[in-house]
Amino acid sequence: RGPTREQLLDGLNGPQAQAVQHEGAPLLVVAGAGSGKTRVLTRRIAWLISERGAHPGSILAITFTNKAAAEMRERVEDLVGGRARIMWVSTFHSACVRILRKEIDKFGFKSSFTIYDAADSKRLMTLVCKDLDLDVKKFPPRSILNWVSNAKNELQDHEDAAKDAQNGQEEMYAAAYGEYQRRLRQANALDFDDLLMMTVHLFRAFPAVRENWRRRFRHVLVDEYQDTNHAQYALIHELCARQLEEPTTGVPQDEVEPAELMVVGDADQSIYAFRGANIRNIMDFEQDFADARTILLEQNYRSTQTILTAANAVISRNESRKPKQLWTDAGQGPGIVGYVGDDEHDEARFVAEEIDRLTDEGGVRAGDVAVFYRTNAQSRVFEEVFIRVGLSYKVVGGVRFYERREVRDAVAYLRVLANPADSVSLRRVLNTPKRGIGDRAEACVESLARRDRITFWEALQRAEDAPGIATRSLNSIKGFVDTIEQLQQMVEAGERVDVVLEQVLTRSGYLKELEDSEDPQDETRVENLAELVAVAREFSDDPVVGPSADPAEVEAGEAEPPGLTDFLERVSLVADSDQIPDAPADGEEGDQPPSPGQVTLMTLHTAKGLEFPTVFLTGLEDGVFPHLRSLGDKVELEEERRLAYVGLTRARERLYVSRAVVRSAWGAPQHNPASRFIDELPVDLVDWRRTEAAMSSWNRPQLGFGSSSRGGGAVQRRFGTATARKDAATKAKAARAVPSLDPGDRVQHDSFGLGTVVALEGAGDNAVASIDFGADGVKRLLLRYAPVEKL
Ligand code: ATP
Ligand code: MG
Repeated sequence: RGPTREQLLDGLNGPQAQAVQHEGAPLLVVAGAGSGKTRVLTRRIAWLISERGAHPGSILAITFTNKAAAEMRERVEDLVGGRARIMWVSTFHSACVRILRKEIDKFGFKSSFTIYDAADSKRLMTLVCKDLDLDVKKFPPRSILNWVSNAKNELQDHEDAAKDAQNGQEEMYAAAYGEYQRRLRQANALDFDDLLMMTVHLFRAFPAVRENWRRRFRHVLVDEYQDTNHAQYALIHELCARQLEEPTTGVPQDEVEPAELMVVGDADQSIYAFRGANIRNIMDFEQDFADARTILLEQNYRSTQTILTAANAVISRNESRKPKQLWTDAGQGPGIVGYVGDDEHDEARFVAEEIDRLTDEGGVRAGDVAVFYRTNAQSRVFEEVFIRVGLSYKVVGGVRFYERREVRDAVAYLRVLANPADSVSLRRVLNTPKRGIGDRAEACVESLARRDRITFWEALQRAEDAPGIATRSLNSIKGFVDTIEQLQQMVEAGERVDVVLEQVLTRSGYLKELEDSEDPQDETRVENLAELVAVAREFSDDPVVGPSADPAEVEAGEAEPPGLTDFLERVSLVADSDQIPDAPADGEEGDQPPSPGQVTLMTLHTAKGLEFPTVFLTGLEDGVFPHLRSLGDKVELEEERRLAYVGLTRARERLYVSRAVVRSAWGAPQHNPASRFIDELPVDLVDWRRTEAAMSSWNRPQLGFGSSSRGGGAVQRRFGTATARKDAATKAKAARAVPSLDPGDRVQHDSFGLGTVVALEGAGDNAVASIDFGADGVKRLLLRYAPVEKL
């Protein structure tokens, strides 16, 4: 019944087919962009099941995003049918969650552990800093967390980190790490990096457990191997390498033959060093895994020769790389189009006009087009312009749905129901909406928890014992505890997640507060919550079993229906990294679902692995892309260049490169020179529609708003003139009210992106906020002028 050998090998070239059929020794497939690595990996899974009789449950395939995993599973199912459903195709994090749900009791956690995302971790670390009386100026929680994250990616626990500390500062960091872990454990929670580290530690501490999982996974396949970090590498090693010695436990090794391993990747596309990815993992594969074989793929099937030549020219400037040649027989294709805008609005307008033209003149659908930029904040201008001209688009990444305040509040309630020991979530919702449980009351409960060594939730339940608590607060607390307990009963009774969520929103008074509000933002919040309920409904309806279900049980029809814990798991994993567009994506040709008519806006990092017929690479300015941070640093600059290579190689037929002469990074306009990556493109390949020199000097904008001399057309008319745009923008700014902020609030800034308010000074028009923008650092902003919006 299944597919024939010929079908499985159809449309593969020689080396591709060889990789699909390879048996035995660990296999590395290295190749440039668009050479069919992902396709080979997918076909190989089908081959394993169909030709080699592998049980689908014995296959572990790792992709970089959840979306890529879903697509890969779908493709394999298309080839070999529904039995492929129970394979594990997932990200490293999801796979670890599934393993830990089964095993983590060995480390004394409950299997219902909560997963803390970046914001939760930050809150917790802030509490830790307070507790340790650390000066947050000298030891910003964000820096400590970064340090801890690096340590975890290197598989160092806090004791190792303390031993290795080089100086007083690192000793403090290690102490904070220890306290942070203690509190996570107390809350029965893990952060993202823990998921990986704990799994590896588990395998190392309990060889029998590891043997079990080795027995289970007979085939391990990893896509985008160039972006694995040390912990991920170690995990693969535990499962797939021959274990020669086990000095600590003396347990005899190799009772179970190692799994067959195939990894695919491209060192030129390694772009996650800032998250601990280590390019050496791919470079050293042959040393790391005994007897390893390597297959090279050299034909590119994605792009035209023009695009490929451009991409090769740029990446060849990197010194620390192995040269390789990619070729295609797709033909030259159209030339690359270049454009220099007066400012970022002009650049965005050009992009919109060009998309308008391409779709009008036929052949191109909006869904075939992607616009890439270096940082999330750059999407804003494109969005403004696209909305104005009525161009349908979607932003991938950016202010993510799951980062919105109301969504986080709702999720925090659900987390409390699933795991009341999760005190970060509990304290988040304790007085949200306001119910008269103030800071004083919270402190009283906290001291009771400390005194009696109980969790914050247990202390709330016995709040009458809290020293010094006011009667009024006590009543409010009782009301809150009652509500939560009732909701918990619903969960225990197996109620659907969407129903529980609706009850949470009504019984907590959260929805009512928003509905009664006059603030138009709150209307949006209600919509977002409705969307979250819809997500939960879809989840409960979806026959696909929750992510932590055991494939064997599913097969036997014994799995529990997906519950609240599964839902929360999915939410935390999706909220982490990826919201990849629905289409188009990498993989097999021809069988893609028809693209919806929406232009995709995304950062270059998110674009990895994907392909689009038409690509706009924007903001090509030194200081924007390459990023300012990288300008003086050779290693970082090479990483930016790899990012450029990723961007260029997403394009199949048409490629545009553009930049703006003036860009306003919140208010102050900046003149940025052309990106060095533009200079690295072969001159004859780029057809410049408009260059800086071509602009008349009177027209050169002082504030970044020049009127354009370009001809009319529908887009131009819908726009109005640039001057009108400027007036509107000035007015909008003047009329804008100063947002009222509190420390801890999440905000969105036009240029810096998402941030958290750290401190406030002054009032009214003179209010100044210190806002932590993560990688961009802490900025002090005069709120009257700063383009920040409270989330
Ligand atoms: P990246 O490095 O960007 O992840 P990749 O190496 O994973 O790229 P794929 O996404 O698998 O490449 O393939 C790129 C494109 O080429 C896809 O559209 C794929 O369907 C097509 N392709 C791959 N191999 C062949 C082939 N032998 N014949 C025809 N098309 C192919
Ligand atoms: Mg790929």
